[in-house]
Amino acid sequence: MAQSKGLTTHQLVEGLHRLSKNLWWTWHPEAQYIFRELSPRLWEKANHSAPWLMADISEQELKARMGDKDFARRVSAVLTAFDDYMDEKKTWGAAKAKGLKGPVAYFSAEFGLHESVKIYSGGLGILAGDHTKSASDLGVPFYGISLFYREGYFEQRISADGWQQEQYVPVDLKRQASEVVTDRNGNPLKCEVRIGFSVVKFIARRLAVGRSTILLLDTNLPENEERYRDITAHVYGGDATTRIAQEILLGIGGVRMLRAMGVKPSVFHMNEGHSAFLTLELLREEVAKGTPRTKAMAKVAAQCIFTTHTPVPAGHDRFNRDLMTFTFGQKLDAYGMTIDDLMALGSEHAGDPNQPFTMTVIALRMSRAANGVSELHGHVSREMWLPLFPVKSVEKVPIGHVTNGIHVSSWLHEKTHAFWSEKLGADWREHYLEPKFWEKAVDPKRVPDEELWALRYTLRRKLIEFARFRLHEQHSRYGNGAGVYDTVLNPDTLTVCFARRFATYKRAPLIFTHFERILSLFNDPARPLQIVFAGKAHPRDDEGKRFIQRIIEFTKHPNLFGKVIFLENYDMNVARYLISGADVWLNNPRRPLEASGTSGQKIAINGGMNCSIMDGWWREAYDGSNGWSIGGDGQPEDPHVQDVQDAEFLFKVLSEQVIPEFYDRDAKGLPHRWIKRMRRAIATLVPQFNTHRMVADYVRQYYLP
Ligand SMILES: *Cc1c(COP(=O)(O)O)cnc(C)c1O
Repeated sequence: MAQSKGLTTHQLVEGLHRLSKNLWWTWHPEAQYIFRELSPRLWEKANHSAPWLMADISEQELKARMGDKDFARRVSAVLTAFDDYMDEKKTWGAAKAKGLKGPVAYFSAEFGLHESVKIYSGGLGILAGDHTKSASDLGVPFYGISLFYREGYFEQRISADGWQQEQYVPVDLKRQASEVVTDRNGNPLKCEVRIGFSVVKFIARRLAVGRSTILLLDTNLPENEERYRDITAHVYGGDATTRIAQEILLGIGGVRMLRAMGVKPSVFHMNEGHSAFLTLELLREEVAKGTPRTKAMAKVAAQCIFTTHTPVPAGHDRFNRDLMTFTFGQKLDAYGMTIDDLMALGSEHAGDPNQPFTMTVIALRMSRAANGVSELHGHVSREMWLPLFPVKSVEKVPIGHVTNGIHVSSWLHEKTHAFWSEKLGADWREHYLEPKFWEKAVDPKRVPDEELWALRYTLRRKLIEFARFRLHEQHSRYGNGAGVYDTVLNPDTLTVCFARRFATYKRAPLIFTHFERILSLFNDPARPLQIVFAGKAHPRDDEGKRFIQRIIEFTKHPNLFGKVIFLENYDMNVARYLISGADVWLNNPRRPLEASGTSGQKIAINGGMNCSIMDGWWREAYDGSNGWSIGGDGQPEDPHVQDVQDAEFLFKVLSEQVIPEFYDRDAKGLPHRWIKRMRRAIATLVPQFNTHRMVADYVRQYYLP
């Protein structure tokens, strides 16, 4: 830890306020320790939000607390680390991204940065948040652009009969980290976009994420019509009319705000198609300069890159001609286009203007380069979009791939952080790009079996205590009898976790396909199994909600009670407990629908292992020794045949490989083969499937022209 600089009380208190306003603290456990220590109860109540907590502690108390010399020393060390981080000049980016003429402008409809910043719904947002943090760590100049969803994504409650209820909680503006972007006179900087016949004003709220900045656009202003004030109420809220308004604000509004602030991006990166209208704004700028349309389009494409995430045609955002005509009718001249030209630009069928307008299509047509998010997804995307391009073979379609990663430091249990700091030295988090470092890190001479096994026990225990607490709380709402939840799950038992959005293609109930057989695995007295589920279904996805309800029914089955658990309100906090507590992370999507998936990447550093369909990232990562595969490469055409087969493969791998290996112990009670596999998972996955590697790939292959 850095030495105290001998800061005054005033400097320490001022420093704490400054620290709480930069989300850097979300991936530095030593900073979280400080805030938690200030008030452990408020910290929990505040959903681990530093600015929320700071709003409730008086200046008088803060000053007095600095009289505790040990605490003051810790505060001082964290502030020194933070200031050093912010001032660092010799970054990876300074050496490797010098060629960038300006910052990267990264547009995403959601960002998952922390459980207390509720502007994300799932994997796409988490990816954007992790990208932002790695850009900061690497020193790649970065602006994220998204919307300020004042009620965010919903909080999930499960009713007594197992049905998902959605609750929206408005953010408290005084207790969050963002600050309104102002003009030269200190007034909120306002921009506007046209939607149909209305002009909609908006401001931007700035979030500091280490050295990165995220701008959150907000239309909730008194001068706007009511319906436009609500555009930014919910993540993916409302019908097509709300969605198109959100997407105009994000794409067109985002470019305008950057211009108004004087930010000059070197590249515009669209994370999924939601922001693709930004290409129209860039086109308008070119046309206004007098550039002929064809040339203007080429100039726009030269500045844009596009990442697609959806492996099925039906998953793409589409708008019909009427809605497009209403929304864009008043500004077609500015693009030098007719409505037919515009519709053709977003049409899947070689420019046929009578097809719906597809955001992915315009994004592909108006970008200099595009990519899928895993090798397999790159291939699937090339096949899917072949008709759009004037090429004959799939291999020639100009869509590459960059496999997704995770920001490792954000996905550590604090115990994991303490473990590796002790084993590898305080700067171990600076080696995510070095496979050799991780080969050495898992050397048994350095980390003996019993210590890795102790870490697993600690993390499994943490998850179990968290689950008991949450279940007790949840069941207290329904009335009596919550006490039985204080003894669910067994700390000695092999613990499988399954947590993600409850989209039906992810097949949460698959493990229960052959019910009697799986019952015997859960109830084997010598080698039992337990499983924890969590996940939200989209508010309009009743099929997904029925999946949740089925899981809830299994949790109540007399032979499964206490062994099958469903935790409410999956968010980044619940995720952190699950990804660190899981011995096995189960993922069984219908192939190839998991474009990449990232949750399985979060577990390796914590000593967990994947058991997954060979889909998305896992198809590239699995080498026979670092986890398990459910079935092989390839899948039958018929999805129902696939379901039956995969259920069979899953049962086989669990009963023949996973369970025996976990319970095969030596005289000291250690599972040698299991721990050997853990070492392989850490060494092969950590340095590869992280966002430092991913951002470095984007810089080299996509951001630098
Ligand atoms: C990592 C994460 C996801 C993404 O999970 P996938 O299994 O990759 O779909 C979704 N939600 C939360 C809260 C996460 O932490």
